[in-house]
Amino acid sequence: MNNLLNDFPILQEIVNDEKLVYLDNAATTQKPRQVLDAIRNYYEHDNANVHRGVHTLAQRATEQFEGVRQKVADFIGANNPQEVVYTKGTTEALNWIAASYGRTHLHAGDEIVVSYMEHHSNLVPWQQLALQTGAKLKYIGLTVDGQLDLKNAQQVITDKTAIVSLCHASNVLGVINPIKQVTRLAHQHGAIMVVDGAQAVPHMPVDVKELDVDFYAFSGHKMLGPTGCGILWGKKELLNEMPPLEFGGEMISNVGLYQTDFKAPPYKFEGGTQNIAGVIGLGAAIDYLNEIGLDKIMKHERRLVEYVLPQLTAIQGIEIYGPKDPRQRTGVLSFNLTGVHPHDLASALDMDGVAVRAGHHCAQPLMKYLGVSATARASFYLYNTQTDADLLIRAVLDAKEFFLNGSF
Ligand code: PMP
Repeated sequence: MNNLLNDFPILQEIVNDEKLVYLDNAATTQKPRQVLDAIRNYYEHDNANVHRGVHTLAQRATEQFEGVRQKVADFIGANNPQEVVYTKGTTEALNWIAASYGRTHLHAGDEIVVSYMEHHSNLVPWQQLALQTGAKLKYIGLTVDGQLDLKNAQQVITDKTAIVSLCHASNVLGVINPIKQVTRLAHQHGAIMVVDGAQAVPHMPVDVKELDVDFYAFSGHKMLGPTGCGILWGKKELLNEMPPLEFGGEMISNVGLYQTDFKAPPYKFEGGTQNIAGVIGLGAAIDYLNEIGLDKIMKHERRLVEYVLPQLTAIQGIEIYGPKDPRQRTGVLSFNLTGVHPHDLASALDMDGVAVRAGHHCAQPLMKYLGVSATARASFYLYNTQTDADLLIRAVLDAKEFFLNGSF
């Protein structure tokens, strides 16, 4: 991963007199010049609304906007760009599945299955759906090292299960879940499989056809793209039968005084003017990732975790959550230092220019399950280096010295 740093202007920032070490990639990633240029280029040269216009700019904008749909489809191994729905992000995509598919398919007595490691975005929509339909929400447990307990999954998923929804990779534990196996199990029981791919698509090759899942959601901003743009992918036959949720311009084929016909998917879900610049930025982000290759990105992150995990583990008082084996995880490392609140730890790291996150990471049930109120979280991405890992370790050691021994 040589020379990537030149592509990311923000990584030259000085923070508290230190060079920025950005390790908050699970929250959002930095944007390369190529993405910034694509957005700027659109606004400077092609800015127009899509679909409706016959003028040249409208055609150029539409070509780019629709071209990204094909790019996304290819990126995740989808059959057809018409299965790719633009959303604001993972949260909106998951909400739409729950509100549109869920409300029209679930009944009292049906069961929805999630796990204890879900982000609130893949939990609260299902809680709401359960409240609205009388369905029951059930949880798959975790093993002691924070993996999905597959034996427990076999008990929890039954013929009553209508929907199983899991994260592909956890934003706290870093663990990669065996989606293919769980999907097979869900399908054996006649349930559909929904996947929150927010922490997977940016970091490893994902093929929705190979996984055989029914819906897959992810966010552009976690994969070098801009905020406010994400993807809901769904099997065509499921999207076809789902009602739209937002009504207005763009999503209609014919409007009468009292009745309206809607377009086919994906357009029937995309009411109003879309985040055109965001979509174009996402397309540039996909080009950038493809140029390097997701296999290479995954290996790079794994090498960093293999390097940093034993060093972090060796610091007395540090507890790390999630699998011990780097091959089972992404570049997300959550940890606590005994006797130091994670917010204080993160503030101390920030003084060294090291940006990590602290808190419940939108996963309060998981915090409860782990018996903690919060953790610190360092999360690596393609532009991070071994030096960043060294600086993280040094900053943690400095913080430990400061808080526990009262000196630098
Ligand atoms: N799921 C997971 C696993 C996440 O990490 C996140 C973002 N932290 C989300 C869902 C929500 O993504 P967004 O805020 O982009 O909608």
